[in-house]
Amino acid sequence: MTTKHGLLVLALLLAVGSGHADDYPLKPVPFNKVEMTSDFWRPRLETQRKTLVPFAFERTQGGVEHLKAARDFLAGKKVEKHRPHRFIDSDLYKVMEGAAYLLQLRPDPELEKTLDDLADVIAQAQHANGYLYPSHTTGVGTAKSMMGDKPYTFIVHSHELYNVGHMYEAAIAYYRATGKKKLLEVAEKSAIHINKVIFEGDSDYNGGKPIRQAPGHQEMELALVKLYRVTGKSLYLTMARKFLEIRGVTYVPDGVGVMSPTYAQQHAPVIEQREAVGHAVRATYLYSAMADVGTLTQNPDYGKALDHIWSNITNTRMHITGGLGAVHGIEGFGPKYELPNADAFNETCAAVGNVLFNYRMFLLHKDAKYLDVAEVALLNNVLAAVNFEGNRFFYVNPLEADGKYPFNHGTAGRAPWFGTACCPSNMARLLPQVPGMTYAHDDNNLYITFFAESRTEIKLKNTRIKVQQYTDYPNDGEIRVVINPEKPTKFRLLLRIPTWTQGRFVPGELYRYADSNISPIKLSINGKHVAAKIENGFASIEREWKAGDRVGLYLPMPVQVTICHPSVKANTNRIAFTRGPLVLCAEGVDNAGATQRFYFDQLPDTKRSRITSMSMDAGSFLQTTVPARSKTSRGGSEKCKLVLTPYYAWNNRGASSMSVWFPQDKSLAVYDPHMLPQNSIFEAIKASHTSPLDTVNAIGDGKEPQYSSGKKVPRWTSRPQINQKQWVETRFAEIKQVRSVGVYWMQDQFDVKFPAEWLLEVEQEGKWNVFELYTTDRYETRANQYNVVHPAAPLKCTAIRIKITPKENACVGILEVKVAFEK
Ligand SMILES: [Zn+2]
Repeated sequence: MTTKHGLLVLALLLAVGSGHADDYPLKPVPFNKVEMTSDFWRPRLETQRKTLVPFAFERTQGGVEHLKAARDFLAGKKVEKHRPHRFIDSDLYKVMEGAAYLLQLRPDPELEKTLDDLADVIAQAQHANGYLYPSHTTGVGTAKSMMGDKPYTFIVHSHELYNVGHMYEAAIAYYRATGKKKLLEVAEKSAIHINKVIFEGDSDYNGGKPIRQAPGHQEMELALVKLYRVTGKSLYLTMARKFLEIRGVTYVPDGVGVMSPTYAQQHAPVIEQREAVGHAVRATYLYSAMADVGTLTQNPDYGKALDHIWSNITNTRMHITGGLGAVHGIEGFGPKYELPNADAFNETCAAVGNVLFNYRMFLLHKDAKYLDVAEVALLNNVLAAVNFEGNRFFYVNPLEADGKYPFNHGTAGRAPWFGTACCPSNMARLLPQVPGMTYAHDDNNLYITFFAESRTEIKLKNTRIKVQQYTDYPNDGEIRVVINPEKPTKFRLLLRIPTWTQGRFVPGELYRYADSNISPIKLSINGKHVAAKIENGFASIEREWKAGDRVGLYLPMPVQVTICHPSVKANTNRIAFTRGPLVLCAEGVDNAGATQRFYFDQLPDTKRSRITSMSMDAGSFLQTTVPARSKTSRGGSEKCKLVLTPYYAWNNRGASSMSVWFPQDKSLAVYDPHMLPQNSIFEAIKASHTSPLDTVNAIGDGKEPQYSSGKKVPRWTSRPQINQKQWVETRFAEIKQVRSVGVYWMQDQFDVKFPAEWLLEVEQEGKWNVFELYTTDRYETRANQYNVVHPAAPLKCTAIRIKITPKENACVGILEVKVAFEK
């Protein structure tokens, strides 16, 4: 080691020890130091306080019960049977974190009392040695297959470390809001315990050998960095670094699906990773932690890996909404360019992770392109995930819907909560932090990063400077900034010039505007136009600033048409619309029917678009009307107008169809997505009753089910007609000789069950006759397959009727019917 190097290490150690280590080159202005006066954000922050957080506390009561059960068990009491899932505590911790942020903004004794009481319960649920994980503590009711039969024996899926990571974040937020250390002490005790068990060896676990395994779900790493920042204790930063260093090194799962090496990014050492793979929430939390640890330990290898990964995401694996993790099943990144629309997964938490990751990349590189990605993810995917009222949520965020198919955990719209409630609880904690992404600075530079009507005060070179933004952003691109230093001061003001003003909507090669002519931005100082010097995505102005200096920035916001990279099959021959940072979509509710019927055989003249305001009780937004063509019911075509809504606002007026990408070719337009496909073997299908949330044509749509649960394909159900007999009739265009009939029955965890009985009838010469079964056939109700029957003798008919008797207290459902004909 050279002397110079030695000194550097010494300096680092001292810095770390004092809690003022080398951190990101830019400091964000904390969220509680920014007053949001924006008509866009202020109501959302109010909703957070009035509805979302109280509602989320109600919904995470199961987590409280879970912790109380552990507390009682540790106190020697008998524990009642309870069945919360093993990571329910994490949802509660995230809501606590969000609540603590609200408390930091404004005193609220009632809310503080709620947090005080919860902190007590958590402290009491912790073992004397620091272990905290109610599922193992009580051993009651949770599947051992997903958490091992003893603590720390199945870290890859137990969420033991993930849960406490979220507890640390809650503890830190609570401490910052109240100054109360109780939960912070619980967090530190947990961290010291985990350090011993994982990295040093604890005789109570793993035969005393250090476990040296990274968490299967990242979060701990980010939380440890925060714990380091708040306590100044280098142990926690060291732990975060070690968890990153051992990932994909000391343990690599070797199965498939959720046990595959890539699922939790354990396929390679993290500094060697170059592509985004696996579960997208895990991935973005990992990348965020890599940015933190790489910065704090001054290890450039992390940044190098992240640069590759960031390019890989923005060039090949990100939806235009900023959504990540396009693929169901692994809830993660698929092959490059696999970006489906209706079938997109795009978990809300992954979009939240995209914001967290990109904001850190900005602090590291001081480049606006990262903010541009963060902004697109925030204003589109993240905001869409909660309704205006603040009490309904998306887990899955597709870019197309038919208004019926239940893409979001059993509903065609937002759900009030989820069994796994990571997404709504992430909304509880992310949104209050948004004001903290509006301004950043170092000693000589003040960055305006997000545009929103707001004010703040910062200190540059020991001078207090008040900054105010006046704007209707994101609805309008006119921004005025007023600078008020307490005395004339020289510094650089940097204003973000978003990618969406520069020829494409979002950084990366996936999306570009059809029209390459861009309207220039305009910059002025005290009313005088100045030429903008743009560097790293920022217009910079260096001068001596005096009280009352005004900067004007005009970001033109025409409606833009975007074309997707040709390798994305789902968007071949399709266009999308954006305005400013907002992705626009069409909804059936505004467009008198299915949005899938619109098409643009020539690029629309967006200068002819009209912008109007839509106000609802809980929120308002701008709508854009563009000239379009639509397919008619008879396959013809007509000129029409298409009404577009910001993607963040969709599904606030009930479930209807929704499209982001519109065909350029009439042949791709679909008049009604619920009609039978043209190649269907059926001419028509009807039923005694169809749930308003389903469609009877689903059973002849040719979409192959994989499971009886009906989660992955459209279905027909008789909801809500419990206990009522039903029939479904499938009709052919001509007389057919039937070889076999297969019925794929649906059964879910709710009220749709396999039928008690069913049988077939056939229509012959206008009369309904019994379908005589082949001698060994039975009317079965086997799960996850077609239940196939054959006729006893050659049988010609024009229609088949399925008569169904439901089980007691149940309805019935069919996912698909297949009929094979004799040639
Ligand atoms: Zn989630």
